[in-house]
Amino acid sequence: MPHYNPPLRDLQFVLHELIDVVGELKEIPQFAEVDADTINAVLEEGGKFAAEVVAPLNLGGDAQGCTLDKATHEVTAPEGFKAAYAKYVEGGWPALSCDPAYGGQGLPHTVNQCFYEMLNSANQAWTMYPGLSHGAYEALHAHGTDEQKALYLPKLTSGEWTGTMCLTEPHCGTDLGLLRTKAEPQADGTYKITGQKIFISAGEHDLAANIVHLVLARLPDAPAGSKGISLFIVPKFLVNADGSVGARNGIHCGALEHKMGIHGNATCQMILEDAVGTLVGQPNKGLQAMFVMMNAARLGVGNQSLGLTEVAYQNAVTYAKDRIQMRALSGPKATDKPADPIIVHPDVRKMLLTARAFAEGGRALLIHTVVQLDKALAHPDEDVRKEADDEVALLTPIIKAFITDNGWLATSHCMQVYGGHGYIHEWGMEQFVRDARINMIYEGTNTVQSLDLLGRKILGDNGKKLKAFGKKVAAFVEDEGVREDMQEFINPLADLGDKVTKLTTEIGMKAMGNADEVGAAAVDYLRVVGHLTFAYLFARMAKVALDAQKAGNTDPFYAAKLHTARFYFAKLLPETASLIRTCRAGLQPLMAMDEQLF
Ligand SMILES: Cc1cc2nc3c(=O)[nH]c(=O)nc-3n(C[C@H](O)[C@H](O)[C@H](O)COP(=O)(O)OP(=O)(O)OC[C@H]3O[C@@H](n4cnc5c(N)ncnc54)[C@H](O)[C@@H]3O)c2cc1C
Repeated sequence: MPHYNPPLRDLQFVLHELIDVVGELKEIPQFAEVDADTINAVLEEGGKFAAEVVAPLNLGGDAQGCTLDKATHEVTAPEGFKAAYAKYVEGGWPALSCDPAYGGQGLPHTVNQCFYEMLNSANQAWTMYPGLSHGAYEALHAHGTDEQKALYLPKLTSGEWTGTMCLTEPHCGTDLGLLRTKAEPQADGTYKITGQKIFISAGEHDLAANIVHLVLARLPDAPAGSKGISLFIVPKFLVNADGSVGARNGIHCGALEHKMGIHGNATCQMILEDAVGTLVGQPNKGLQAMFVMMNAARLGVGNQSLGLTEVAYQNAVTYAKDRIQMRALSGPKATDKPADPIIVHPDVRKMLLTARAFAEGGRALLIHTVVQLDKALAHPDEDVRKEADDEVALLTPIIKAFITDNGWLATSHCMQVYGGHGYIHEWGMEQFVRDARINMIYEGTNTVQSLDLLGRKILGDNGKKLKAFGKKVAAFVEDEGVREDMQEFINPLADLGDKVTKLTTEIGMKAMGNADEVGAAAVDYLRVVGHLTFAYLFARMAKVALDAQKAGNTDPFYAAKLHTARFYFAKLLPETASLIRTCRAGLQPLMAMDEQLF
């Protein structure tokens, strides 16, 4: 069975030494009193909950999966999931970053995000049940009527009820403009909703008393395409005016999907037959309202892969120190043993360090971004809110795609460290690989994220958001470029910054001639910009570590941080050279072949 130790030291390093989260958020009135001790104490307790309550259910939950009672349409989650969820609710964990007006604890989203990294390491499948509720909460908080908020937000905040997002239909995934689910207005102001949704995570389960489905559907007079989509609340049990649960609504689980990973999470086909729903936001503006949920979910999916990367790394390190095979090429190291531990072999180290660098870089990028999100949502200064919002918009597709691609690579490397044992269920590594794979697909595939980044967020606003981020990088380069001990980090960072600027202009020019050039470059381009964010954050982390050492701090944590940063710059960042070449190779090699020849 895999083990998990919450990475509290690294979380604290990023929160307090790299970013100074308390200083960054202190101008936001509701966070003015939040101090480092409070944040650390919450995360320490949260880490215990993840490691002691949720992690032990991961391997068994994967083997057992969920079951559907076809007669009642009720779904039962794997053994132990319901009890763990009850403890989660009892501990007040769902309310961590929710609005005190609805019973929340009002802590920054940043704290919740760090807690969720640990839950994801412990058990991604379990974590999706409460995780989706956060997105539903955010969408209703932003777009619900006062009545809807009063009815639903307190129960989502307490965790008594969970939420889902019901977008996908059999014929429509990426292209939501094709969706067919219908909503008929009723005399009492409600809607009767009919249709079929597929692949709905946590669509039905036995963990909570009610499930709040956020459903996209089309009104009778709706324009075709994505401009004709509206958003509805469709609860599993109808909700009475006093907030109590009423009759069963016309939405049920018709079947469970059989899938590659996250077996402990119920992925449901949902049938809607005259289900009663209420409209959220304006008619035909459902996608805008749903985007609040989708953006939260995109950051959440990046966080899922960060969690898996961390837990896979931890287990692979333990294994590599314990497993003895062959001698080091340079001569025996463990002379008291018949062979050396495999951690002496350079390639095993490369796999371990790759996973470690992806975990540490991913954690820094996620925390950096969610601090901006906290500012974007609540900072009193409108300019600060706007600037932070732009940065979150730029970094969200990078987090979703770069961190999940890295998570797939990292878990696969960690499986390789185990040799054949990595392929065997009881060690837990093959489950991490299977679980990590879905993160590149759902919440908008990684291809779609790259189109969003390059097409919409960068070329679509004449590079304004990218330039604003580039200014932060340039300011850091200028400030630290004079330091001899920072050259190894600053020079490649500055070089990549220049190359990204040139590459972006080049693709923009080509795209004026043929818009397909964006599609040809986007995936590789996102990875290049992903590396720019990692290089910036690793250089900053290296500076903190160097400063600590200069000040006489001998904590081995700083030495390890520097080694990881050096590994990142020497062995992972150079990937950008080939990615830039493949971006430049453009459209022709992809489109020249006639479709008939495939
Ligand atoms: C386990 C699981 C859980 C899920 N949970 C949910 C959920 O809770 N709620 C929900 O609503 N949905 C959920 N989904 C659905 C998921 O979000 C979709 O599968 C995903 O958005 C892709 O849609 P699709 O499967 O229809 O693929 P398609 O849209 O058919 O795409 C097929 C391929 O074509 C590519 N493609 C499509 N359009 C373009 C383009 N313009 N340019 C380049 N490439 C393109 C895609 O990137 C992909 O590689 C889940 C799916 C799974 C498997």
